[in-house]
Amino acid sequence: MRKKARYVNEDLCTGCGACAEKCPTSVANEYELGLGKRKAIYKFYAQGIPSVFCIDPNSCRTFQGKKCGVCEKVCEAKAIDYKQEDKILELNVGAIILSTGYDLFDATRIPEYGYGRLPNVVNAMEFERLLSASGPTEGHVERLSDIRDHHLIKTSEKKLKKSSKSLASYEKKHKMSSDDFYKQFTAGNISDGDEFPKWAKQYESVQEATKELEELKAKAEKFDIATRLAFIQCVGSRDFRFNKYCSSYCCMHSLKEAMMAKDHDARTEAYIFNMDLRTVGKGFEEYKVRGAEQIGLHYVRGRVAEITQDENENPIIWYEETTSQTTKHMTVDLAILAVACEAPKGIEKMAEMLGADLDENRFFKTDLLNPLDTTVPGIFVCGCAQRPMDIPESVAQASSAACRAAEVVAGG
Ligand SMILES: Cc1cc2nc3c(=O)[nH]c(=O)nc-3n(C[C@H](O)[C@H](O)[C@H](O)COP(=O)(O)OP(=O)(O)OC[C@H]3O[C@@H](n4cnc5c(N)ncnc54)[C@H](O)[C@@H]3O)c2cc1C
Ligand code: SF4
Ligand code: SF4
Repeated sequence: MRKKARYVNEDLCTGCGACAEKCPTSVANEYELGLGKRKAIYKFYAQGIPSVFCIDPNSCRTFQGKKCGVCEKVCEAKAIDYKQEDKILELNVGAIILSTGYDLFDATRIPEYGYGRLPNVVNAMEFERLLSASGPTEGHVERLSDIRDHHLIKTSEKKLKKSSKSLASYEKKHKMSSDDFYKQFTAGNISDGDEFPKWAKQYESVQEATKELEELKAKAEKFDIATRLAFIQCVGSRDFRFNKYCSSYCCMHSLKEAMMAKDHDARTEAYIFNMDLRTVGKGFEEYKVRGAEQIGLHYVRGRVAEITQDENENPIIWYEETTSQTTKHMTVDLAILAVACEAPKGIEKMAEMLGADLDENRFFKTDLLNPLDTTVPGIFVCGCAQRPMDIPESVAQASSAACRAAEVVAGG
């Protein structure tokens, strides 16, 4: 087993976060699926156990040969250890439980849905992050194109500040405002001097950038919470081109997400496009009925054919409504793809290493009568490593797998 170096001594770190607060390096946050930023010293997510920090050597300045060491200076617990190394642990065990989970289906494999191309088409996990109070938008469901434009405004303002400073230095040197200089320069009254053409060019680019920024700011004033939502079910599941199986939990998570969005903003109109809503579980069907009758969710029966966008980057959903047998389209603020649960990359390698078989869908093969037993005695499986399942079922399986493992270790 490889225990990766954290470069932070977990026995000393108190989890106070002083290091991350002062760290000057920000990079895309994987936990937020790139929608937010994190520091080079970070916790993968707030509830992680143990609650201690780690350094990402790929972005940390010290590891990249630059000057820094700020975290070491501010850490009062003296927990920073840049010299830590990965450890290979050899464990002598009586049983193994595989709980390696799942990967999300890559929705770019369905190009007609526009994921990765149309900014306001997101997958369900990205939508969960938008809904989360601890997420990149603090729970405000914003269109990704609006988030992009807000970032653009911030970076343009910074650039403009820098360019304006260089105009100010010309103005100071020549004791003349840039406006006056430009009028005279373009009228041909000022010509000699190497730096005048550069000043004029800089002035023009500042004027252009200011105009673009003002336009963007005027556009941003009209931005609002995304309240028209289209949930597209079975993306990569129950589709013979990709996975034939039902991913089993996505109908329920879309219902939950739609209800939460409505709870965040009562103006929300949520449409769930489905072949059928598979609400299998105790109280699940009642939850679906309550969603329609009390919360006002709209269930549309039909497979979505294509997603395009209008001039404001609003997704347009093209679909057949099977109940009326008509083809229709609908414009929304955000389209949310309920992507399939797939066996994770690397599962083949792990199966080969352990000598365990996989089933036709690449999940670990199990015995029909002993559903936690893999094809190798003493190696058990639980959760989505066995097949798609929700959290309660994964947790119940985990307890059962622990019991099966204990039986082996304790000698039957
Ligand atoms: C958008 C979305 C919303 C959902 N909402 C809900 C919900 O509201 N309620 C609900 O019940 N279910 C929900 N689910 C389903 C839920 O995510 C799964 O049921 C649950 O995560 C399965 O747990 P697991 O432990 O089997 O797998 P995972 O959660 O995938 O955990 C597996 C872990 O193993 C780690 N791992 C993998 N390989 C290795 C290795 N070689 N070494 C070390 N670690 C490794 C992975 O990094 C991962 O952390 C949702 C799913 C999605 C996609
Ligand atoms: S040494 Fe690395 S992790 Fe520490 S503050 Fe500097 S960039 Fe951040
Ligand atoms: S759970 Fe619902 S959305 Fe997910 S694959 Fe099954 S039917 Fe489709």
